[in-house]
Amino acid sequence: MSTTSFNKKSILVQKENNNGEENTTVKPNTDAPVIRKPKIVSTGARKKEIPEGLWTKCPRCSSMIYDSDLDENLKVCPKCDYHFPIGARERIHSLVETCTFEEIDADMTSVDILGFTGVATYKSKLESNQKKTGLKDAVVCGIGNIGNFKVALGVMDFSFLGGSMGSVVGEKLTRLVEIATDRGLPVIIISTSGGARMYEGMFSLMQMVKTSGALAYHAKQRLPYISVLTNPTYAGVMASYASLGDLIIAEPEAMIGFAGPRVIKDTTQAELPPGFQTAEFLVEHGLIDAIVRRPDMKEQVMLYLDFLTNGQKQLASIG
Ligand SMILES: [Zn+2]
Repeated sequence: MSTTSFNKKSILVQKENNNGEENTTVKPNTDAPVIRKPKIVSTGARKKEIPEGLWTKCPRCSSMIYDSDLDENLKVCPKCDYHFPIGARERIHSLVETCTFEEIDADMTSVDILGFTGVATYKSKLESNQKKTGLKDAVVCGIGNIGNFKVALGVMDFSFLGGSMGSVVGEKLTRLVEIATDRGLPVIIISTSGGARMYEGMFSLMQMVKTSGALAYHAKQRLPYISVLTNPTYAGVMASYASLGDLIIAEPEAMIGFAGPRVIKDTTQAELPPGFQTAEFLVEHGLIDAIVRRPDMKEQVMLYLDFLTNGQKQLASIG
């Protein structure tokens, strides 16, 4: 009775009904819908409208970041350096020189070989993910320039079915590596994946062998391959091409492994060390070579390429 909103309501009731008395507590039964509706709309909706689509809350430091600032900073929190997920196309845009990227096998799409049906059919999953991401599958491949280096670049996208590796991901990457081998180009694959795609069963697992085989031929030509691991890179992808780089680099705090920590803990019945499966932990234990922040990635990759191509030639000529 004593709050301002009740007082306002009572005034409205009074005005509409022309009741001279202040005895309005009984009235809302008849007039409540008319009075309450505008009140809910005016307070609730306005609060939600402002941040939506304009601001993103950082899950680590909780600061609100202006979306355009976040995009400009390659989806890295300007306050605490938290690395948000980034799409394949945005990532390619951040690495290659403008207008130099020629995509290959852009229209290759998966086939529902097994006629897989779970909660939804594989076919409908593919369609909804294609619509959601604007991608045909979980990897974008092509040839482009990074600085003065022409490279074969494959970039995975976690938003397409968890970056899972099915026949298309495996085939596109294999063809990319084969083109690189033919043309004498370095390969860079940026991975993010939950592993092999269960909807394609064994056909997914076969991609591990196929990609690894192609990379072996590439290595035989003494051509460099840089594998970049981003959050998360797991299972079949980590157990094949992602761990085969001449140089393996990772983004800060990326989770990397084969089986997830919970599975390992349950199987081994042992306490896992702190920071287990993070990029930082794996650098310390020698599985990966370096951690590179996303805003520094292009510059660092150019340095590595220089070392792996020109630098090595120089070293060889001195030797
Ligand atoms: Zn932050």
